[in-house]
Amino acid sequence: MGLSWFGKKKTVAISGDFDGGNIKVVDASEASDIRLEIKPDGAADFFQYFNFRVDGAAGKSLAMHLTNAAQASYVPGWTDYRAVASYDGEDWFRVDTRYADGVLTIDHTPKRASVQYAYFAAYPTARFRSFVETFSRESGLSRETIGKTLDGQAIEYFRAGDGPLQFWVIARQHPGETMASWWIEGFLPALADKENPAAQSLRKAATVHVIPCMNLDGARRGHLRTNAAGVDLNRAWRNATMEKSPEVFLVREKMRETGVDFFIDVHGDEAIPNNFLVSAQGVPSWSEARQVRFDRYSALLLEASRDFQTKDGYPATAPGKANLDIANNYVAETWDCLSMTLEMPFKDANVNPMPDVGWSPARCRNFAREHLRVMAEIAGGLA
Ligand SMILES: [Zn+2]
Repeated sequence: MGLSWFGKKKTVAISGDFDGGNIKVVDASEASDIRLEIKPDGAADFFQYFNFRVDGAAGKSLAMHLTNAAQASYVPGWTDYRAVASYDGEDWFRVDTRYADGVLTIDHTPKRASVQYAYFAAYPTARFRSFVETFSRESGLSRETIGKTLDGQAIEYFRAGDGPLQFWVIARQHPGETMASWWIEGFLPALADKENPAAQSLRKAATVHVIPCMNLDGARRGHLRTNAAGVDLNRAWRNATMEKSPEVFLVREKMRETGVDFFIDVHGDEAIPNNFLVSAQGVPSWSEARQVRFDRYSALLLEASRDFQTKDGYPATAPGKANLDIANNYVAETWDCLSMTLEMPFKDANVNPMPDVGWSPARCRNFAREHLRVMAEIAGGLA
């Protein structure tokens, strides 16, 4: 093998073998015809999220074919989709991407020797740890480890404020939806900011509980949707167990201690090119009063954010037919409160398009600060 290797022309090196990485290299011998596959979640069949590094490709015209794209979990996600790239893991930009004949192809000529490509701006667990350490030191917010994941990672929990209402914010149940972590990077510092009037008023009206990353194992393993045991955490809320879904089990216990008056669960949606909210309108105990609360949050967010809209979203669930294994529905039914799922796009927000970056880390952080303002406004009305 050695001799034939030396006989080959020098080619690029591709790897997804790192924190949050996901790729299977089928054939990388020709830079202009690289064949790759997205790997399914370890113990489940879901896949869509990819994240890999290419080395030795500066100035080379790369054509990278993800050949199993047609079998991905959400094929409509590839329509009008453009992949993201970064040279430093911080600044992400969109690159030419096309979906044809069941293959997703990324065309790019990197300017530097090492470049990363991903489904959405990657958010590795190493970044999460360093964010948490710096944030907890600087913010002085109450921080607690509420238990461990199946891979032994500490599940972090933050608490702010001392008001009587119990506000809960959780993010990244689905590890491939990295926009949820970027949102948290905007939300937590704003919440802790002593000079932010919205944060001040929210912390007075409410005690805010935050689980910044629900699915650390899936995030580190480069999964789309599940944890180390192959469980979709957002389908585990009624029957969570310490054996299969400790992340949900432990958070649910904590919620039982505190109660819940407000809940938002932060996600990303593969197909819909806009931000939207999902209410718990199909739960058995749904009422007109709850619809009014949800509509008020939506209306205030519409005023607060140029990136939000209320036309695109999921179709309504028939009355009483909501899946109570989903966090949003479970919480609404258990605590009779305003409970929502937030979905952000993998593509761009069509109401305020920015083609160079699409929906991006900076926009996620900004959107989180807009949510904080709305939470502060509605806290008065929930008391
Ligand atoms: Zn999700």
